Amino acid sequence: MESTIKAPRGTRDVLGDESWKWTHVLNVCRDVAGDFGYSEVLLPIFEHTELFSRGIGDTTDVVEKEMYTFIDKGDRSITLRPELTASMVRSYLEHDMKRAPQPVKLWSAGPMFRYERPQKGRYRQFWQIDFEILGAQSPMADLETIDTSMEIYRRLGLTNLQVLINSVGCPNCRHAYRDALKRFLESGPGLDALCETCQGRFERNPLRILDCKKPACREATEDAPAIWDSLCDECRSHFEDVNRGLSRIGADVKLDKRLVRGLDYYTKTAYEILAGELGAQNAVCGGGRYDNLAEAIGGPHVPGVGFASGIERIVITLEGQGVFLGEKPKTEVYVVTASSDFAIEASALAHELRASKLSAGTDYAGRGMKAQMKQAAASGADFVCIIGEDEAASGTVSVKNMSNGEQRSIPRNEAAAKLVLWREERNR
Ligand code: ATP
Ligand code: MG
Repeated sequence: MESTIKAPRGTRDVLGDESWKWTHVLNVCRDVAGDFGYSEVLLPIFEHTELFSRGIGDTTDVVEKEMYTFIDKGDRSITLRPELTASMVRSYLEHDMKRAPQPVKLWSAGPMFRYERPQKGRYRQFWQIDFEILGAQSPMADLETIDTSMEIYRRLGLTNLQVLINSVGCPNCRHAYRDALKRFLESGPGLDALCETCQGRFERNPLRILDCKKPACREATEDAPAIWDSLCDECRSHFEDVNRGLSRIGADVKLDKRLVRGLDYYTKTAYEILAGELGAQNAVCGGGRYDNLAEAIGGPHVPGVGFASGIERIVITLEGQGVFLGEKPKTEVYVVTASSDFAIEASALAHELRASKLSAGTDYAGRGMKAQMKQAAASGADFVCIIGEDEAASGTVSVKNMSNGEQRSIPRNEAAAKLVLWREERNR
């Protein structure tokens, strides 16, 4: 019977033939986190709305249009987290991590929520991995976060990824650039050439006009000045060091003047990593530096840099590139009985096999032997154990090797050990 209640628009069930790929991605993240020295934090799925309005910024798409916000029964404004950086910084401040040796490197993963128009690679609930280095001023920390993400993708087997990078300067030099950009827009294409949203941005947040996706705005900003000429000495040398580091580690990098965040607490480095397989939703990763974010949410000055990457987009890219991730985990041994008289014996054998870390299954539907053999084949099992009158009487099990059809009888009490051995031989 088909249920009339469906998963809400923009959410999806990640079923067994896909979820194991997620586990694989998360395992790789865990390994890489260990090698780079990030510790994992598990953060709340909802936070006070204020954390995001102050920590992401009131004029961003995420805060303006995409948040799942509600008033809880205690009259608090609560928001389902749309990203992790603000929560990471909140957690750092709340637990006084400034007193620990710096930098503090944290990572986390889990579902995020954004009210967006769902399409391939864009959902309302999606998973992100998030890596942050807090308490480090050095451009080498920026480099290390990019290297962290690239190492994750490399170990996953992804290729052809391109890093787009820019600097958004600091509040000191960004002013000059903001003015230069406004002058360019006014004297060149004119405000009428911009979409309505960008006309609104002109005074409030002109840098955001650069990353508007509307063709008219893109055309109007085609020849806009880049921020590079306006950077102060510190921001310039920081930017150069990150780029020198990236070329030293052999990353494929392109400078992109359109990559902006345009809020005061985002500083210096901004980057994205693109994968062609994603089509219009081509960013697999977004990151950058946010030296003034901790202060924006009421804390002391804490420099920070990090990135977030969407697991759905990683999996789409893995599939698009045809990366072989190994086989989907499956049943290795299926236990078949000649009749339901041996059902308890079959369960006991399956129990023993599992205790020896063999993946084992058996029939609970009282099927005939032929139907059980069919089940066994359908499960993809490498071996079938058969328990019938003869086996029970002689304390043995018949084991059939499904790849060559060979069948032999082995003592019941050696079954688990033998099967572990045969599995190893098979996998060799
Ligand atoms: P986009 O420009 O695609 O909307 P974004 O700049 O909003 O991305 P970030 O906030 O930087 O994205 O989030 C980091 C990463 O999270 C993105 O690069 C992407 O992989 C993933 N991501 C963001 N929004 C979604 C979504 N709605 N569905 C699936 N993945 C997402
Ligand atoms: Mg977005």
